Amino acid sequence: SQCEKDSFDSRYVGMSSSGVTQGRGRNLEERTIADDICKESMIARGGYGEVWKCSRHGDPVAVKIFVKDSEESCERERKIYTSGLLRHPNIVEYIATDKKCLHFGIELWLIMKYYRYGSLDRHIINNSITPVKAHRILYSITSALHFLHNPVNTSYGVAYGGIAHRDLKTPNILVEDERGNCVVTDFGLSVLADDFKPGAPPVKVMVGTKRYMAPEVLNGTINTNELDAFCVADMYAFGLVMWEILRRAETNGKASEHQIPYQNSLCEHPTIDDIRRVVVEQCVRPELEERWKDDECLSVVSNLMKECWTPSPDGRPTATRIKKKLETICYEMKNGF
Ligand code: ADP
Ligand code: MG
Ligand code: MG
Repeated sequence: SQCEKDSFDSRYVGMSSSGVTQGRGRNLEERTIADDICKESMIARGGYGEVWKCSRHGDPVAVKIFVKDSEESCERERKIYTSGLLRHPNIVEYIATDKKCLHFGIELWLIMKYYRYGSLDRHIINNSITPVKAHRILYSITSALHFLHNPVNTSYGVAYGGIAHRDLKTPNILVEDERGNCVVTDFGLSVLADDFKPGAPPVKVMVGTKRYMAPEVLNGTINTNELDAFCVADMYAFGLVMWEILRRAETNGKASEHQIPYQNSLCEHPTIDDIRRVVVEQCVRPELEERWKDDECLSVVSNLMKECWTPSPDGRPTATRIKKKLETICYEMKNGF
């Protein structure tokens, strides 16, 4: 049967609530984590399948369900989550991957912690934010990127990191709490050092969300042999995310309405050529707001954001530099946290 109930992510088997221990063989009757999860409501639908809010022993979990033919996409995400110690307060909390056997075949389930505040785009569409909260959101994302972009070595090899996200945007950031702590999610297009080793299949460049693509991706000049080039492209996308956040940050009690990047310069469903014309040829960038100068954090961030947008990849700040810069803005202390 194609419905063997061996856990797809064997690491889970050892800690299964059913008491199954690793290496006991492939008993068809073994329960795996997917058997303990009930679907509750659908959160989102994409090309690969759907994301569901589910419950496991009464506690909420989120499950990204990959339908037939999306195995590759699931495997990429699973590989990123299990590639090392990808545990960080600002990275989505991965639980396990499993196969769910149904009468019509198999679904692959990527099981994660459920974030009840949902994605950052929805959150800032519905709420304006204080500069303190904007600072916390930005610091969360910066910390995640700093962690992802910098590999950590041990004497035995790389422990974690060295990952370019390649699809950074507000829908791929989840809000963890009211204060603005966030996590980065959706590693379906991410690349790691292994992808650049000799013999690895060539890395595809034209992937990700068109609107957030860096100039060097749009015009094909990115150095596809280097992981770092893709990390730098992430920083361009982060610049656009910064802009979305700054628009929703209040100064004197007022904020601008949410816009997606280049909302005034591109149609709703632009082609790559449309975007290349605007971003690369005309060098258009999102509009800046005078009012940001009234707040220390917003003015510092608006300058960093502009650096992230520079057409030349070499001119962009690293996540590490932005993180340090944000640490100099002592909101927490001023506000008595
Ligand atoms: P896709 O590859 O289709 O973009 P994502 O992993 O980004 O899939 O998930 C799609 C959407 O589902 C996200 O934008 C977010 O709104 C929601 N979502 C994803 N994971 C979670 C989670 N763990 N908790 C709450 N909502 C989630
Ligand atoms: Mg997504
Ligand atoms: Mg995705």
